[in-house]
Amino acid sequence: MEDREEGTEGFEPVMMDLFKQMKMENHEQLLVCSDPASKLQALIAIHNTTLGPALGGCRMWPYESFDAALSDVLRLSRAMTYKAAVSDLPLGGGKSVIWGDALKDKTPAMLESFACHVAALGGRYIVAEDVGISLEDIEIVRKTNPHVAGFSLKDGGSGDPSPATAYGVFSGMRACLEEVYGKDSFEGRRVAIQGLGKVGSALAKLLHEAGASLYVSDMDPERVAKAIRAYGADPIHGHEVYRVDCDIFAPCALGGIINERSIAYLSCRIIAGAANNQLKDLEIASELGRRNILYAPDYVLNAGGLINIAEELTGYDQERAYQKIAKIYDRVKMVFALSKEKSVSTAKAAELLAEKRLKEGKRI
Ligand code: NAD
Repeated sequence: MEDREEGTEGFEPVMMDLFKQMKMENHEQLLVCSDPASKLQALIAIHNTTLGPALGGCRMWPYESFDAALSDVLRLSRAMTYKAAVSDLPLGGGKSVIWGDALKDKTPAMLESFACHVAALGGRYIVAEDVGISLEDIEIVRKTNPHVAGFSLKDGGSGDPSPATAYGVFSGMRACLEEVYGKDSFEGRRVAIQGLGKVGSALAKLLHEAGASLYVSDMDPERVAKAIRAYGADPIHGHEVYRVDCDIFAPCALGGIINERSIAYLSCRIIAGAANNQLKDLEIASELGRRNILYAPDYVLNAGGLINIAEELTGYDQERAYQKIAKIYDRVKMVFALSKEKSVSTAKAAELLAEKRLKEGKRI
């Protein structure tokens, strides 16, 4: 019995493991969904509902194993709690994953069955789109389950969240400029963008209009060519984007890119972008501080899409949504102030801010 977690005596090892994982990050609930008729295999994780119902996307992915799907859904649902809490939203954190290949396995019957499982939670979990799940899929889920967010503009929804995310990143960048240079103007500033997808391309437009000069990198040469034509951007190849001498490096493609290797090359003063989980771990955040590089925590900066979607819950109004997104500027400043006050990295400060709101159990 010596290896057993307290309170799990009598459970089979697989269940012990599950409870151990959920206990580690304080997850509230995990729903394992199966429907042989439609071949649905899905997990819904509710991390925390202290501040409101758990909102988070549904991801469809061909995971290698049950464990891989489980750790993804647990990790992503926790991240949603922190993003909502730090953004002062009346929402908790949740996420769902459907185990399968979105291109080959997805069927309307599978989505309808998934919708029934979400509906059974009675509004504790609100589902939105994510990788492998489109707006059309969300419309199918919505037919039998009212707890849905992020549907199309024509149906009174908030539509594609990417422009809102880009606007939030842009607003947060202004706070970074003020912190480092004493004024929040983009005039004459150099910004290197990694990834010109839905968010990166919208951000490039905003930055160009505000007077910044751009370095751009993308695997897709057509996206780079477009930015050269539209904004006179300088193209950068592959890993060279880390070395560019610039004011702001904006990761808008992949996670985990700030790590032991890339940190040695960085020549920027600020890291501020949309990509999720940019840092390999919290230790890297401290190292950025020691190198005098200001890091704007990703989930504070990229919450514009979530703030936009959350507006649907009270009747979507774009102007009101964008006013709220602009407040990311103030939130980033709060994070920087707390980081100085507590002598911790900016990433740790963002966590503390989110945890404070969760502890108080109310919006501030
Ligand atoms: P996207 O798929 O539209 O764009 C990603 C772009 O990155 C693509 O153009 C791709 O070619 C490029 N890319 C991939 N690998 C690259 C590399 N090694 N170097 C350079 N470019 C590379 O995705 P998106 O919706 O624009 O989201 C971008 C990031 O922001 C993702 O990490 C996403 O999770 C995060 N995010 C997006 C939103 C949103 O509203 N879309 C919200 C929050 C966070």
